[in-house]
Amino acid sequence: MRTKMVAGNWKMNKNLQEGVALAKELKEIVKAPKCEVVIGTPFIHLATVAELLKGSPIKVAAENCADKEKGAFTGEVSAEMVKSTGAEYCILGHSERRAYYHEDYAILKEKVLLALANGLKPIFCIGEVKEEREAGRQNEVVKAQLEGSVFNLSAEEFCNITLAYEPVWAIGTGLTATPAQAQEMHAYIRSLLAEKYGKEVAEDTTILYGGSCNEKNAAELFANPDVDGGLIGGASLVAEKFKAIIDAR
Ligand code: PEP
Repeated sequence: MRTKMVAGNWKMNKNLQEGVALAKELKEIVKAPKCEVVIGTPFIHLATVAELLKGSPIKVAAENCADKEKGAFTGEVSAEMVKSTGAEYCILGHSERRAYYHEDYAILKEKVLLALANGLKPIFCIGEVKEEREAGRQNEVVKAQLEGSVFNLSAEEFCNITLAYEPVWAIGTGLTATPAQAQEMHAYIRSLLAEKYGKEVAEDTTILYGGSCNEKNAAELFANPDVDGGLIGGASLVAEKFKAIIDAR
């Protein structure tokens, strides 16, 4: 049975005090979730939030890590540094990093390798932009993203990867993929995994949906057999909404 998961992505929201307050609220209300619960926070929150959540089922993720191991890379934060905070996961390949920080397949490949080498579990995001969907190219886009950054991994390494299908046109826009669109793409992704790594790995890989998933539409999306949970942006910033999504899983 593959892991079901609801993961939050706070992005560049919440100062340290606000982030700590949200984590405390979540710790209070998320006591015995039926799925893995992860919150992705900015780097500055990681150590404090990971400490605060000790003894809670909620795990912590970074939203990024460097594509270099260590050294003179001013302002960067390495995978080893992330791991030392107590974070267990690292979100990589988010469309905002691809679009605004020019993270291409090769850079993301390095980040994934460094995350894995340092004992972090990548939550690797893939998804097409609106024009690609309109041109019917969504399958070839996600295939290329997988081939470019994670299909170099061995089956053993790949078992530490969680995938998040996030159609870029749905992120932060209020436009959600329909449950049918999400299921179709998730099933396609799983078929690619089966081709590459075999049926067992494909069946065991957690594939999250992300893109305007909220407390109202989560249950319908999660009801699909290949949708194992959600990567949640906006709605993860409000404890009750995030809890309702967790409860929908
Ligand atoms: C995201 O950024 O990963 C995301 C899914 O955002 P939102 O839920 O706000 O669309």
